[in-house]
Amino acid sequence: MKKIHRETLAIRGERVSSAYNEHAQALYLSSSFTFKTAQEAQELFLGERAGYTYSRTANPNVDAFAMRLASLEGAERGIATATGMAAIQAVFMSFMQAGDHLLASKSLFGSSIGLINTLHRYGIAVDFVNQNDLSQWQDKIRPNTKILFVENVSNPLCEIADLNSLANIAHQNNALLVVDNSFCTPVVQQPLLFGADLSVSSATKGIDGQGRVMGGAICGASALIDTVWGHIRTSGEVLSPFNAWVLSSGLETLFVRMEKQCANALELALWLQNQPQVEKVYYPFLPDFPQYELARKQQTMGGIVLSFAVVGGKDNAWKVVDNVELFSRTGNLGDVRSTITHPYTTTHARVDDKEKIACGITSNLLRLSVGLEHIDDLKDDLYNVLSKLD
Ligand SMILES: *Cc1c(COP(=O)(O)O)cnc(C)c1O
Repeated sequence: MKKIHRETLAIRGERVSSAYNEHAQALYLSSSFTFKTAQEAQELFLGERAGYTYSRTANPNVDAFAMRLASLEGAERGIATATGMAAIQAVFMSFMQAGDHLLASKSLFGSSIGLINTLHRYGIAVDFVNQNDLSQWQDKIRPNTKILFVENVSNPLCEIADLNSLANIAHQNNALLVVDNSFCTPVVQQPLLFGADLSVSSATKGIDGQGRVMGGAICGASALIDTVWGHIRTSGEVLSPFNAWVLSSGLETLFVRMEKQCANALELALWLQNQPQVEKVYYPFLPDFPQYELARKQQTMGGIVLSFAVVGGKDNAWKVVDNVELFSRTGNLGDVRSTITHPYTTTHARVDDKEKIACGITSNLLRLSVGLEHIDDLKDDLYNVLSKLD
C-alpha cells in the first residue's frame, strides 16, 4: 500500500472500537479486565498473551492515543502519562540512577528545572548549559552523563538547539538525547528525525488544544519505551482513559489547528515588528531571527509561540497584559484561544533577576501563544493597547 500521510494517520491511525461499530472511538473506563480462565490470567500477567489486566499497567484508550501520537512523531512506540511533568519524571527515573549525571538546557520549562533541582537527593548530578551554545554541551558532558535534555523551541525566547549536533554529542558518550516537544508538537517538529532518542510532550498544550485535560507522552524506539513502561506501570504515572480519549480526538484536528495557528503567529510577528512601541520580536520564522536557517531545517513552520519586548519596561508590559480584551491572561499555551503572559513575573518569577536578564528574559518582554481567532481581531486588540503606551 502507498505510504499513508501523517495527516491521515492523525485521524485514522491507531483506534479503539467495540462490537457496536461506533464511528467515534469507544471509551473503556474500567480499572480492571476479567479473564476467562486461570490459564489465560497467567498468560496475560506473564505477557505471553496480548490483552489487558489492569488500567495502571495498560488500557486500550491510553495505548491507542500513545500509538497514534508515536506514528506522528515517526517513532516505533509511545507511552502516555498523567501530565507532561510525569513524562519527564518517568524518563529521568527510567534511565538514571545514583552516580549518574544529567546535562540540561538552562532554557527549560520552570517545573522541569524545579524537578531537575531535586535530582541531587537521589545522587544524580546536574549541569545546566546554554541551549544554543554547542561548546558548552561538549565541555560539560562527562563519562557518567546519561541524558542530554533540551526543550525545542525554548520558552519564551524561541531559542533553537541544533538537534543533529546534540545527538552526536550524546551518542559519542552513549547518552540519550531527550527533547521536550510540547511547544512544537510533531506537526511542526519531529525530533527523532534529527537524531533525538526520545520526544516527550505535555499533551496538555497543543495536542489537547482546547485547555480541557492534562496529559503527557514519551515516544521513541520500542526498547526504550519498554524500559519507561517498566517504570510507569509500577509508579502509577499513567494517563486516565478518559483523558486519552479526549487527547485522541485532539490529534484528529492537530494538523489544521497548528497550520492555522502558525500562520496567524507568523503574521502577527511580522506586524508587531512594524509597531513603534515594539523594540524586538522573537519568532523563529522571521527572516532576521538569528537561528532562522536552523529553524527552517528542523521545523515545518514557525510554531505558535512568539515573544516581543515593548518600550518603557515592566510598567508598559503590565499595561498590555491588563488591557487586552481578546487575549486570555493565562500561562497555558497551544490553545485555540490566544493567550498573553509576562514571563518575568509569572513563568520565570522564581528565577533570580540577574539570571533572567542574562538569558534575555527582560521585564519588558511579553509572550503570546497564538490561537485561531481572526488575525485582524488579534492585531486590533494589541493595537488598541500598544498605541496608548507612553
Ligand atoms: C506545560 C509544559 C510541561 C509540563 O506539562 P504538564 O502537562 O503541565 O505537566 C513541560 N514542558 C513544557 C515545554 C511545557 O510547556
